[in-house]
Amino acid sequence: MRAYRQVFGAAVVIASCLTARVVLNLFPVGVGSSGQAFLAITAVAVAMLAYAAVNFIVLFVAIYLAVRPVKLRELLENGQDVTLEFATLCLGGLTALALANQPLLSVLVIPPLFVLQRSVLTKQLEIAATTDAKTGLLNAASWQHTAKREVARAQREHESAALLIIDMDNFKLVNDTYGHIAGDAVLRAVADCLVRELRQYDAIGRFGGEEFVAMLSGVDELVAVSISERVRQQIQLLEVPAPIPDQPPLIGLSASIGISCFPEHGTELEDLLHAADSALYAAKHAGRNRVVVCPL
Ligand code: GH3
Ligand code: MG
Ligand code: MG
Repeated sequence: MRAYRQVFGAAVVIASCLTARVVLNLFPVGVGSSGQAFLAITAVAVAMLAYAAVNFIVLFVAIYLAVRPVKLRELLENGQDVTLEFATLCLGGLTALALANQPLLSVLVIPPLFVLQRSVLTKQLEIAATTDAKTGLLNAASWQHTAKREVARAQREHESAALLIIDMDNFKLVNDTYGHIAGDAVLRAVADCLVRELRQYDAIGRFGGEEFVAMLSGVDELVAVSISERVRQQIQLLEVPAPIPDQPPLIGLSASIGISCFPEHGTELEDLLHAADSALYAAKHAGRNRVVVCPL
């Protein structure tokens, strides 16, 4: 991590702690005074709130100055971070009470803090291992894992499912004309578009390069075609901001989409992938920017 971030992070924590201290001082009792447990707990709770508020406001302003506009929903989207923050604050509150009454007892906070941080680290590593860093979608291996599970579920529950392979048209030309950084921005915009247009429980992944895959559960051929058409049209409407300031946005993008359906084109993921890939090949061959279902 860059040094300025560490300094900033430490400064925010110190500012939050000092604010919490000031708030604690506003209460007429020492945190540990016996017989006033309720007041003491209220004091610690309000101090924790003050800590969280200062922390959030300073970080919000910093993020706002760096990347505006800040979407509040995105900031709070990671429930895991918010829960960790809250759990750590609770341990902080308990430490404050222990320090006031029995300072030695505060060492009991160390083991739960250690376990808490380690569990979060494990989760972060898991996310890093399953996510495509460029687009935030599932990476190829993790998508295959999810898609396999989805095919097995469809088989068990006698449901339909559809597999889409979405390949950007003439993407090499985008790179050659606007550069790789612009190409990457396009890939991110297409990934966001897929997330917007498909359902939350559809498995969407980046298969490699400029190729995306989606497994749509409970969807038959007719619905799969209409969803793919919608996706294709939305990709055509994308306006991707150019990475260089004052340059016009990138427009006129298109993608070809190959579709295969469960169980018509196969009951194994490999067969479905193969079928969707030949449909994609047919779409490219027919002139690109179109949706093709694998013939039976
Ligand atoms: P087609 O319409 O036949 O699919 O043509 P295409 O140019 O999209 O396909 P081709 O396979 O010839 O080229 C794919 C290009 O995608 C080449 C490669 O440089 C580019 N590409 C692959 N991965 C990335 C990436 O992560 N970022 C960027 N910017 N470009 C990538
Ligand atoms: Mg392509
Ligand atoms: Mg390709």
